[in-house]
Order: sequence, then C-alpha cells, then structure tokens
Amino acid sequence: SALVVAVDGPSGSGKSSVSREVARRLGLAYLDTGAMYRAATWWCLHTGVALDDRAAVAQAVRDLPLDQGVNPDAPHVVVDGTPVDDAIRETRISAAVSAVATNLDVRDELRRRQRAAITEQADASSFSHGRGIVAEGRDITTVVAPDADVRVLLTASEEARLARRARDVHGSDDAASVDATRDQVLRRDADDSTVVQFHVAADGVVTVDSSDLDFEQTVAAVLAVVEQ
Ligand code: C5P
Repeated sequence: SALVVAVDGPSGSGKSSVSREVARRLGLAYLDTGAMYRAATWWCLHTGVALDDRAAVAQAVRDLPLDQGVNPDAPHVVVDGTPVDDAIRETRISAAVSAVATNLDVRDELRRRQRAAITEQADASSFSHGRGIVAEGRDITTVVAPDADVRVLLTASEEARLARRARDVHGSDDAASVDATRDQVLRRDADDSTVVQFHVAADGVVTVDSSDLDFEQTVAAVLAVVEQ
C-alpha cells in the first residue's frame, strides 16, 4: 500500500534536498510545498499584485496556474507556461515569500492543493511516480497531513542552518557569507513562525537533528525513521 512521509523544518535544515533524496531512494513522489509558496509569490510580483493587498493576493493565488512535477528525479515548477524553477529561488522571492505565506486565505488554497496532490499519490490506483509521496514544508506534519504514516521534524542548530544556507547561496560559509544570510534566514523563520509552528515537534512527530550530520547521514537518519 502507499506510503505518505511528511517532513517539516526551518530554512537551512536541509529538508528539501534530504526529502527529495529520501523520495528517490524509496521510489516515491516528492512534493516541495515551499516551492508552491514561492511560485505564488513569483506570480503576484509578475502580475503586479500588491503584496499588502490581502484580498487581491488571495484571489491571485486561487487563480494561480501552477504545474508542479512530483518526480524527485526531475522536479519542475511551471507557472502559466513559464518554467520558474530558478526564478523562485532568487533573493527577491525569498524576501517576499513570508508576506504571501502568512496570508491565511493563501494557506487555505495551497493546503487544499497540497492535500489533493498527496491524496492522488497515496491512491495506489492513480500514482504517477511511486506508491506514495514525501511531502516537505513547514506545516505538513501538523496541518496538511497530520495522519501521514511517517512524520519527521528536521531540525538543526541556528549555526548549522546559517552555514548551510551560506554555502547554498554564496558558495562559502566564511563569516561574511554567514552574515549576509543571517538576517534573511532568521527574519523569514520569525515571520513564518507567526502562522506555522515548525521549531518543536508535535505529538507523534520524530525529530531528526542534522546539526552534526552530513547529507548522507541525514538521509540515512530519515530513512531509519521510515523503516521503524
Ligand atoms: O522551504 P522554503 O524555504 O522553500 O519555503 C519558502 C517559504 O514558503 C517559507 O519561508 C514559508 O514562508 C513558506 N512555506 C510555508 N509553509 C510550507 C512551506 C513553505 O509557509 N509548508
């Protein structure tokens, strides 16, 4: 039968790359829900919707023409025919995404789409990749899929998260690169924390702390939780 794995964590915890690799190893689909909030933000900026106009942002996201692949070997995010995989990782999107993600009408709409994607993959008769899915974000273990078979909170110390993000964005974790990342990462987590809780594991959620683990070790630790 199908397997649903939910992974949450703060930025820089490594959850996207780890979740994707776990999906690949298990032959499951992979859903990056952060990419959905990023694509929604890209769409609002692209269409000129003012991010402080909550009703307009909500309507834009209800109309969001999003096509997101769930194959972990070939993820793709397409909005209204435009591939936005790289564009949604740009600093201007990271800086604006919390404003969109803290809009509760936006969350209702994207959570509805996330549940639909998970249900589709969990339904063994209609799976398009593997029998099941690894879905990753901030509120998957708690709100989107609280009944998932496996629920993991991937955490890491602030120091480890900043160093990881600095390496991703600046190619180095020297002091200047970490400083350049600090405000953005901590501010985004603080803003996101006003509407979703992802620093403490909810009941029944297993914490994996990746502070002292490399990528392979973190993947192995999550796979060990799945196999428990
Ligand atoms: O995971 P990633 O850093 O790409 O997520 C980008 C943003 O999307 C987060 O900062 C947060 O604002 C939002 N997000 C969310 N709920 C999720 C996943 C992401 O609010 N489940």
